[in-house]
Amino acid sequence: MNTIILKPHKQESVLRFHPWIFSGAIAKIVLDKNYPHDEPQEGEMVRVLDSEGKILAVGHWQKGSIAVRILAFGTDQLPQNFWQQRIAAAYNCRIGINLPVTNGNTAYRLIHGEGDQLPGLIVDIYADTAVVQAHSAGMHLARRQIAQALIDTIPTVKRVYYKSEDTLPFKAPLQGDKNGYLIGDAPEQVCWAEENGLQFRIDWLQGQKTGFFVDQRDNRSLLEYYAKNRNVLNMFCYTGGFSVYAIRGGAKSVTSVDVSAKAIELVKENVQHNFPDYTNHFAVAADAFDFLDGKATAPDSPITNYDLIILDPPAFAKHRDAIPNALRGYRRLNAKALEKIAHGGILFTFSCSQAVDKDAFRLAVFTAAAQVGRHVRILHQLHQPADHPINIYQPESEYLKGLVLYVE
Ligand code: SAH
Repeated sequence: MNTIILKPHKQESVLRFHPWIFSGAIAKIVLDKNYPHDEPQEGEMVRVLDSEGKILAVGHWQKGSIAVRILAFGTDQLPQNFWQQRIAAAYNCRIGINLPVTNGNTAYRLIHGEGDQLPGLIVDIYADTAVVQAHSAGMHLARRQIAQALIDTIPTVKRVYYKSEDTLPFKAPLQGDKNGYLIGDAPEQVCWAEENGLQFRIDWLQGQKTGFFVDQRDNRSLLEYYAKNRNVLNMFCYTGGFSVYAIRGGAKSVTSVDVSAKAIELVKENVQHNFPDYTNHFAVAADAFDFLDGKATAPDSPITNYDLIILDPPAFAKHRDAIPNALRGYRRLNAKALEKIAHGGILFTFSCSQAVDKDAFRLAVFTAAAQVGRHVRILHQLHQPADHPINIYQPESEYLKGLVLYVE
């Protein structure tokens, strides 16, 4: 195994269990005798030593600013059943928070990267299927061991689908990076996963991310609580999670908007499947800004006044450089919704940009409110659910934030 030696004092963050080593902290790289390349290869395991030669950690090497993603601290060896152990620990955590065993929840996140001490790995479970997303070269190289460990460890999992074409961030040519089944075949029937007793069609082949946004489960429940007798507008609806909960909560009408025509098909199917008799659901494939500006409307909808609006846009900032533009985007979007919403309306507004922290997001929404000049109370501050745990040593794993506002 090749060895990474840190600069003096750069071991501090490792001793505090931060799972990344930045390239700037590295003093030198010592290659094994007879190593056939002149630098470590993407994704290979490396050991990390401090400047005095003490073993600090072992992890995946990757070219770029995050040079090592640490898998284990205080050792340079991984136990033989490492993947089984880590996956079992994550599963026990989910059982501890009553997820996979609770009636009505077969969709949940099993592995949330750094939050589950597996940096670079995401695994979502949909009934008997695990969908694996690698965000690092090391997790890509370990994909077959991970798939086998999922089958060995999680009693309900029968097939493993690998979906990393869009998430592997590096340019190096890698073998086997195409999406496809690692274990098992396509199910014979469409997969309907359950969340809090509601059913959602999950399409990991064509759908966005792993097929569904499991991270809004708790926030959808809160929305259900407020939906009674309201005219709900679900912007950026994707598969319509918030729409279906709003109907169960007794909404007078629900309007779902997404720029993707495929998403609108899915939301219609999910509403129809859960509430075949509900006649006040309207849906349109349109740009959110056009819709809020009145340049697009939902066909057949008589509704013009909304008193519950959800704004759940895609991440506006994927990198730190994009933060100023993202904040302008959040400000503009929230100003439009705050302008449109009826008196006494409730706005659920989210940001899933990791780079935008909760204070910056709140400031953007505050600026929007001030610009529009309406009285706004903050009712709730929302975040990611318990199956998307935040690594206490790595605050960057916090990404989803939301506000629930009462607009006078
Ligand atoms: N609220 C959803 C998840 C939203 S993901 C849920 O609970 O599952 C973000 C969605 O925004 C995606 O479906 C994407 O197609 C849509 N989107 C992206 N840009 C958009 C735009 N300009 N106008 C409307 N929808 C957009």
